[in-house]
Amino acid sequence: MIRIYNTLTGKMDEFKPLVKDEVSMYVCGPTVYNYIHIGNARPAIFFDTIRRYFEYRGYKVKYVQNFTDVDDKMIKKSNEEGITLKEVADKYIAAYFEDTSKVNLKEEGMIRPRATDYIDHMIKLIETLIEKDYAYEVNGDVYFNVENYKDEYGKLSKQNIDDLNSGSRVDINEIKKSPLDFALWKNAKPGEPSWKSPWGEGRPGWHIECSAMSNELLGKTFDIHGGGQDLIFPHHENEIAQSKCSTGGDFARYWIHNGYINIKGEKMSKSLGNFFLLRDVLKEYSGNVLRFFILSSHYRKPIDFSEEELKQSKTGLERIENAIIRANEVLKYAMEEDGIKGEELNEVLKVSKEKFVSGMDEDFNTAMGIGAIFELVKELNKTIENKKFSQEGMDVIKNTVEFIIEVLENVLGVKLTLETKVEDLTKELIEFILKLRTDVRNEKNWALSDKIRDGLSELGIKIKDGKDKTQWSI
Ligand SMILES: [Zn+2]
Repeated sequence: MIRIYNTLTGKMDEFKPLVKDEVSMYVCGPTVYNYIHIGNARPAIFFDTIRRYFEYRGYKVKYVQNFTDVDDKMIKKSNEEGITLKEVADKYIAAYFEDTSKVNLKEEGMIRPRATDYIDHMIKLIETLIEKDYAYEVNGDVYFNVENYKDEYGKLSKQNIDDLNSGSRVDINEIKKSPLDFALWKNAKPGEPSWKSPWGEGRPGWHIECSAMSNELLGKTFDIHGGGQDLIFPHHENEIAQSKCSTGGDFARYWIHNGYINIKGEKMSKSLGNFFLLRDVLKEYSGNVLRFFILSSHYRKPIDFSEEELKQSKTGLERIENAIIRANEVLKYAMEEDGIKGEELNEVLKVSKEKFVSGMDEDFNTAMGIGAIFELVKELNKTIENKKFSQEGMDVIKNTVEFIIEVLENVLGVKLTLETKVEDLTKELIEFILKLRTDVRNEKNWALSDKIRDGLSELGIKIKDGKDKTQWSI
């Protein structure tokens, strides 16, 4: 049984899909006016992991994540760079795929709509809202009428309408009926991209796009809606209002929100200027390390992002990889009839499997899942210190290695580096031996220097003494 912390109910709810063995999921995607920062990478990685886990548990997943390709920031960028809105979107969507391909997002079967491809559908929804008196037009703008939905509005963000009303400023120039009313359609300003509508040339407000795309692609009621915590209000609250009032469906049944990424205790954001672009982080660390780092925390908790934390994740991942590399070596040669049977490892393997699944079943606790893997790795390391293993023992080691690889690569999406490391080590060893040889030469011990050179030559490693450095080749 999978349980989900549902922002809408404020508690852990048992997941019961609308259609048996199927999951429909919508996640708000990035506005494509810039390269993505790691605050955008967190939901991309986490919801990809949810998708993988549902599939691991036998569900068929229909996963939609949109690109917002029209809003104030997009228009500003288009003016700044002197290119069209579509060119801005094309450029940064390509950059998005270039960056996220390195953190192993599963693109197969994913649906990634662009908002501007759904303008007609948005207009239809807005017309329905006006007909049902949930929206009104003023001078080419259309607003949602929160007053007519006040019993429900604020349920997701756990705020009541009176608090929201008293907390919002009333602008004298305001043409809205109430300060809480939000734009569904905006009258075109000179020089802005616009679309034809029953209210004249204009463009959609931000929130309506997700209502339109989810309705078109997943229907009026679907299983899961996700996004970052900062989207709960007003964006998701407004999506619910628009969707329920226009389609009459229940909209999303489970709401999942991931926490922030903090830098030195402060929320990372573009406006504060304390953000890291994903592509810059990936210059220093592999996408697998970053992914492992992000999944090492529970998704609802904030993550403190620092070089130190990333290094720790890198070391942790290497510990797992090294254990598997060593175990694979053992599997090659250490079979002996009277060797050990690996009963203890088998016991820990069983427990770790259970812990991994129960952790993930309980609100996708990847931190617990990774903890279970580390416990298993510890026992694996202990076991392979023995020199000889019976067939039974070999089978246990093999099963352990297969389990670790399967959950890390298929469920958590962290690809392991199991071969190139040995090559790296070889290079480092050769460099080390050559350094020793240089020391020997400085001491004018030519005999030993030649012995090292001949020894390397026998292994197929040719060396050439240069002025400052000794070159080598295989
Ligand atoms: Zn959205």
